[in-house]
Amino acid sequence: SGRVVLAATPIGNTEDASARLVRLLEEADIVAAEDTRRLYDLARRLDVHVSGRVVAYHDHNERGKADPLLDEVESGATVLVVSDAGMPTINDPGLAIVRRAIERGLPVTCAPGPSAVLDALALSGLPTDRFCYEGFVPRKHADRVKKLRMLSGEMRTIVLYETPHRIEETMRDLAEVFGENRLMALARELTKDFEEVRRGSIGDILEGVVNDPPRGEIVLVIAGASEQEAVQAAGGAVLSVEELAEKA
Ligand code: SAM
Repeated sequence: SGRVVLAATPIGNTEDASARLVRLLEEADIVAAEDTRRLYDLARRLDVHVSGRVVAYHDHNERGKADPLLDEVESGATVLVVSDAGMPTINDPGLAIVRRAIERGLPVTCAPGPSAVLDALALSGLPTDRFCYEGFVPRKHADRVKKLRMLSGEMRTIVLYETPHRIEETMRDLAEVFGENRLMALARELTKDFEEVRRGSIGDILEGVVNDPPRGEIVLVIAGASEQEAVQAAGGAVLSVEELAEKA
């Protein structure tokens, strides 16, 4: 019977394509790709022949396209969903078809693989036992500061995506809101020839960004707040369970 298969694609290094991705590209009846040109480019680099129909499935049409694609699934088709890089649905198209498939009771599965979130987190050297992914840092200064303030008391490791154009402004806002001493990592061009991970305090990384601006795709990983920082961010006195019990 038919099904939806989300498949991760390489985030830079073509060799990260799984054997399962290759087989799915060859065999899927329909490939729903964020950018059809990039899909054919990937297929060429992997030397696979895409036998199925290739359709554009991106942020602007995914809600409208989900149901027609699922009609095909209902008739027995395997629909492969791929984005330009990494895991579909992670700041990429895919969620609309997953939701509709669940609502319609149609099978959906995933061929997992590369994603910049986990790659950067694992390389950061920061705690990985608890983390939160917050997607792209907002573009506008005011929105950015607001978001960072909301995150300043977060005790889990924080993972954010950023572009090189705004990295210096963002680092300045980070230093302002989180303080210069909080530890972080800036990972760029992961899995590519110029992969680099800078680790240090927010102050160190800011200085490095000013002196040697990082190019390419960037992930920021920031240490979670200490208990003391979390209390401060919450506006001062936070009572422990014992203190609350005493008051009651
Ligand atoms: N779906 C993708 C994933 O699973 O990682 C994310 C797509 S999002 C539109 C693109 C952003 O992911 C980039 O701006 C960058 O922040 C991050 N990214 C993707 N590939 C990367 C790489 N090779 N190195 C560092 N960051 C990367």
